[in-house]
Amino acid sequence: MTAIRVRIAPSPTGPLHLGTARTALFNYLFARHTGGTFIFRLEDTDQARSTVAFEREILDGLHWLGMEWDEGPGIGDEPERGSYGPYRQMQRLGRYTEAADRLLEQDKAYHCYCTPEELEAERNRQEATHQAPRYNGRCAHLTAAERAALEAEGRKPVVRFRIPANRTIAFDDIVRGHVEIDTNALGGDLVILRSDATPLYHFTVVVDDAAMAISHVIRGEDHLSNTPKHILLFEALGSAVPQFGHLPLILNPDRTKMSKRKSETAVADYRAQGFIPEAFVNYLALLGWSTGTEEEILSMAELIERFDLSTVNKAGAVFDRERLEWLNGQWIRRLTADELIDRLRPFMEAELAAGRIDWLPSEGEMRALLPVVQERLPTLSAVGELIGFLFVKEVEPEPALIVPKRWDMPTTVAGLTAARHTIAEVGRVSWEADEIEPPLRRLLEDRGWKAGDLFMAIRVAVTGRTATPPLFDTMVALGYERTLARLDRAIERLGAQAATS
Ligand code: GLU
Repeated sequence: MTAIRVRIAPSPTGPLHLGTARTALFNYLFARHTGGTFIFRLEDTDQARSTVAFEREILDGLHWLGMEWDEGPGIGDEPERGSYGPYRQMQRLGRYTEAADRLLEQDKAYHCYCTPEELEAERNRQEATHQAPRYNGRCAHLTAAERAALEAEGRKPVVRFRIPANRTIAFDDIVRGHVEIDTNALGGDLVILRSDATPLYHFTVVVDDAAMAISHVIRGEDHLSNTPKHILLFEALGSAVPQFGHLPLILNPDRTKMSKRKSETAVADYRAQGFIPEAFVNYLALLGWSTGTEEEILSMAELIERFDLSTVNKAGAVFDRERLEWLNGQWIRRLTADELIDRLRPFMEAELAAGRIDWLPSEGEMRALLPVVQERLPTLSAVGELIGFLFVKEVEPEPALIVPKRWDMPTTVAGLTAARHTIAEVGRVSWEADEIEPPLRRLLEDRGWKAGDLFMAIRVAVTGRTATPPLFDTMVALGYERTLARLDRAIERLGAQAATS
């Protein structure tokens, strides 16, 4: 048995994408479940688009989700850890030229002098005659003299890897089963080094997977068609071919591919919206996999215990935001009071910074509110909507919002005035939800009003919104004086409006 070694190999050319996070997670779960090694490798050869900021964001995002790797950058304080390094491709350039030289020596690769213009003209010709685009092999068998002549013209060659014609590459994919791809469909001989000697993805990925003794390549299905090229390269380099597992695509609800242009794909955006890592990781694990039972709330430890790569689905996984919110709510309920207070703090600070509240709740106030808050948060960022009205000086709802649908303005003024008296009476004695509700219910009976109408008018008057935690808890949290003051203010504003209309 070869040792299990898997890797996540992101390119730092954009924010951490949820597809990358899912691929990382499946590699991580597979490694931890089997006692294997999980490696992080930075594929940063696209120097024009790679940035240190994206690199940081990817490392931070994976850490935030609770993943740690055994080899690579971003472990502890060291620049990197592991005996197969360096783990950044830009620090491995010599290895790619060395491998390319070996292929050239064995005539498994050759120098190609075709210019971009010549290649484009050929592509256009193929298109016009309805042929699939492929390199026509013009430089595949140049003599030394022909090469010298082309170099004398000042042409700089690329290095192309010979793709054999008329062969079927077959492999057993752990997820997709038996796959066969005809080498004639691969576009002809493959550029592995550009004319400036910088290597291309197909080449670096194979050279590194071989050098790092990767046993299983687990990645997105979008790479499936690359795999035959990679298998040919492994063979040409004389390296063992790893096993492959291609994970299903993540789809929008309309079953189109989730792309960063059309959909929300950056993990950081979900984090900013108040999804918590326990839930996000749980949700990512269910994008293409399930335990095979009804169980769906699973911690990282439980995921590691149950994960089985061979039961990953072939079919695309639809991203369902409602289900993610539901899971997030479930995980928020599982947090301890201290954890929840800690995690809500930055979101309350953001409310303050945005001017949506006038001051921050104290820790004690937050703790007192948790019973009404914890059950009701789909995301941490919803906290402002839920309790922000408590931390503003005034609420000034539009009079039209205070008037319930089935009531008119005079009825609303009468309703709120009567409720104000009732509330003032109870509150003087005891300001508790259980004490406030019964006398208000009696008032409803006496007047023949519906609870839905009067309670909605009170709710909007004291909070400024139509959806809040339970009304009586809300009033208790707001306090006796402030509840009455807000009711008075609403009655006054409604009265003023009635007088002018
Ligand atoms: N850098 C490649 C990517 O981001 C890695 C693909 C692979 O896993 O082979 O898609």
